[in-house]
Amino acid sequence: MLNRTDLRGKVPSAAELRATLPRAEIDVEAALHQVRPVVDAVRERGVEAALEYTEKFDRVRPSSVRVPAEARSRALAELDPAVRAALEEAIARARKVHADQRRTDVTTTVTEGGTVTERWVPVERVGLYAPGGLAVYPSSVVMNVVPAQAAGVGSLVLCTPPQAEFGGSPHPTTLAAAELLGVDEVWAVGGAQAVALLAFGGTDTEGAELVPVDMVTGPGNIYLTAAKRMLRGIIGIDSEAGPTEIAILADSTADPGHVAADLISQAEHDTLAASVLVTSSVELADAVDAELAARVKATKHTERVVGALTGRQSGTVLVSTVDDGLRVVDAYAAEHLEIQTADARAVAARVRNAGAVFVGPYSPVSLGDYCAGSNHVLPTGGFARHSSGLSVQSFLRGIHVIDYSEDALRAVAGKVVALANAEDLPAHGEAVTARFGGAE
Ligand code: NAD
Repeated sequence: MLNRTDLRGKVPSAAELRATLPRAEIDVEAALHQVRPVVDAVRERGVEAALEYTEKFDRVRPSSVRVPAEARSRALAELDPAVRAALEEAIARARKVHADQRRTDVTTTVTEGGTVTERWVPVERVGLYAPGGLAVYPSSVVMNVVPAQAAGVGSLVLCTPPQAEFGGSPHPTTLAAAELLGVDEVWAVGGAQAVALLAFGGTDTEGAELVPVDMVTGPGNIYLTAAKRMLRGIIGIDSEAGPTEIAILADSTADPGHVAADLISQAEHDTLAASVLVTSSVELADAVDAELAARVKATKHTERVVGALTGRQSGTVLVSTVDDGLRVVDAYAAEHLEIQTADARAVAARVRNAGAVFVGPYSPVSLGDYCAGSNHVLPTGGFARHSSGLSVQSFLRGIHVIDYSEDALRAVAGKVVALANAEDLPAHGEAVTARFGGAE
């Protein structure tokens, strides 16, 4: 079922691998052209333009874009108790992990009387995005809000698409998650129009103000991701967390049923989702294909799953050894990487590039999507080579505070002057010597 790339006996470079490995044809660059008119219209005409695009893409026009408080409290009151308990568990586990990520301020005494302190200061106002197009993502509310709150962000606003089946309100479970987490500003707007509204602000039809944010975080489809890339600079962003990817590095010890189930679980997100198996065992690859054929027919979102699995972004890569497989998955830099090999922990410890690594047979990606305690907002499209998933750190800025005494400055003045002159910026040196009555 999956396309095959046979790299057995070959030793391609990382660059050659990146050119060979399956990846989405429709990339973010292409989507930029589609979202530019949306962003421009919202910049010029605010909420009215956002509502026009909402009608076009979400096929509904909410009566108010700012979600009223009663809708959130009703959603929580009416939430299925089992779902509430699961959300509470997910929140508790995520809070536990993210609380440990908070950095403390560090002061370094560079010289007697001269210190540099790194102060970690939260971003003031952040826009969080929880997707809601093909599927709804209350779990993404948890994954955005928990680290932002742990970082101490003072002002949070959540945007999530309105749902036609709920009369233009976001999905009730998404609203209930926001309520559980204490987020009181929620706007029913999705995609590129949401990112633009967060960046430029706007006034709702009923008069509520959306004050522009400093930063937008959260996952979404290709259009949301393109809008984040386009508006980066006007706003800060986390990483590009676009259509989901799973890579599984497996050998003959892996269970083909588990591998197939996990590949399908991520294909279920989006026809652009990527499911990649990297294996040193042809027998496993054959067995996984057989499992996929049977399971795809039985799964709920068959059409979406088949679209994703047969797209050029998905496939099986055959390698000679697990070591060769490690080179392949490092070049690919998957959002999610499962290690299903003998001695999985040792293999996982050698991974260099991945958004998150799932070790052994009992740590499937679905666990991380909801209840592992880890964050599920993770870099896609190879961004894991240079970026991290969402964390407390994403919402903090390190500010250096420099505090030197007169003696400490005097002691280093000659060095500052020498470097200033070497750069032909003598006024820099003069700003130091002026404090000591002329040249030192
Ligand atoms: P979404 O909220 O991201 O997208 C829905 C919005 O897309 C709509 O509100 C609409 O405004 C916009 N849209 C739809 N068609 C458009 C078009 N032709 N032009 C411009 N805008 C358009 O929800 P979704 O579609 O369900 O996608 C969720 C995505 O998030 C999936 O791809 C999933 O894999 C991904 N995801 C990624 C991560 C991660 O961390 N990388 C985590 C969770 C989910």
